[in-house]
Amino acid sequence: MSKKRIAIIGGGPAGLMAADELSRAGHAVTVYEAMPTVGRKFLLAGKSGLNITHAEPYERFVTRFGAASERLRPALDAFTPDDIRNWAAALGTETFVGTSGRVFPKAMKASPLLRAWLKRLEAQGVTILTRHRWTGFDGDAYRIETPNGEKRIEADAVLLALGGASWPKLGSDAGWTAWLRERNVDIHDFRPANCGFDCAFSQTFLERFAGEPLKSVTATSAAGTIPGEFVISRHGIEGSLVYAHAAALREALAATGKASLVLDLAPGRTAERLARDLARQDAKASFSNRLRKATGLDGVKAALLRELAPDANRLDAEALAGLIKALPLPVTSPRPIAEAISSAGGIAFDSIDDRFMLKAMPGTFVSGEMLDWEAPTGGYLLTACLATGKAAASGIRQWLDETAS
Ligand SMILES: Cc1cc2nc3c(=O)[nH]c(=O)nc-3n(C[C@H](O)[C@H](O)[C@H](O)COP(=O)(O)OP(=O)(O)OC[C@H]3O[C@@H](n4cnc5c(N)ncnc54)[C@H](O)[C@@H]3O)c2cc1C
Repeated sequence: MSKKRIAIIGGGPAGLMAADELSRAGHAVTVYEAMPTVGRKFLLAGKSGLNITHAEPYERFVTRFGAASERLRPALDAFTPDDIRNWAAALGTETFVGTSGRVFPKAMKASPLLRAWLKRLEAQGVTILTRHRWTGFDGDAYRIETPNGEKRIEADAVLLALGGASWPKLGSDAGWTAWLRERNVDIHDFRPANCGFDCAFSQTFLERFAGEPLKSVTATSAAGTIPGEFVISRHGIEGSLVYAHAAALREALAATGKASLVLDLAPGRTAERLARDLARQDAKASFSNRLRKATGLDGVKAALLRELAPDANRLDAEALAGLIKALPLPVTSPRPIAEAISSAGGIAFDSIDDRFMLKAMPGTFVSGEMLDWEAPTGGYLLTACLATGKAAASGIRQWLDETAS
């Protein structure tokens, strides 16, 4: 193999994984990163423990990427959740499986893993140039803005690993979409994924309950019936249970202008049991007391019921029980993409070949969240970013071999 010059633009997990693979294979790798440091979103993910992958059965795992599952499968097969755990362990980060099957580093943070990874990259000869921002094309050359002025990339292959469009202040601002569209790359508009939603709650409800968690509920949408918890936010609803339904709610809003989560506020009890216990209450007692004694609902759960069904106190026991088991919570719009955990949309899979090379731009490869796939939270996002970074690195090696012969 002859040593080739590889330019990787974007120093998130996808770009760094490709840098690791390609430098180990003996190539001269330079990472161009717009921000003052690499891996900012990876480090932020570490603030909530760094859920790096998921330990559920692999055949289930690979279905989590919706319409893109099939296209991502070869990359995931080549870098499975077990491989991710071994990769982290080789960098001194042991992981454990949490009760939900989510996998976290024992240290519950990203910084030791990133530090060890960067050390290894340095040892393998990777050059990381921070404050180096790709700003578009000059003919076919990549134009890079640096602290010392503008320069052009000279490389045998280029990997773009620029991330999606959420949390742009961490670097992935999707500024590149127009430049690639001009080159006939099909890019689906970015949309918020794993995001909160605005709801038309009254000011009084928001002032009193913003920040309060609703624990032990189930929520139903086109995504299915999922148990969990969520939080009343300053604008509506947030939290893991909402994120699990976010794609379904977002798509319903886009298609019909309307969407609701249907909540079961008392998942442990049947409607019949609730109705019987409600019917037993003293009719002269206050609504709150009847509700609390018969159903156990109080605080934010009782308030949400009254907020969404102001006439709930006038319902008979059976109807009230039905409402507690299936309370529609309408959402009005997703929160802005800048607040979302991740984004949907990006480079269409039809624009790339099996090597992750852009069909319209031979020699340019893509990986990570900038591709059009989405997944719920649970470690799926980082897994797919790392796996596609590795797959693009294999694609680059294959392409370099082909073009050399
Ligand atoms: C709050 C939060 C928590 C999260 N928690 C988890 C979690 O626990 N588990 C999980 O699986 N996922 C989590 N994620 C998602 C995960 O972090 C991302 O999916 C992942 O970082 C995307 O990797 P990437 O390499 O594709 O892109 P990024 O990590 O976004 O990296 C892209 C890089 O490209 C750089 N760049 C962009 N444009 C240019 C340019 N023009 N020139 C040069 N450089 C450029 C950016 O500065 C950035 O460093 C979380 C995300 C957020 C916001």
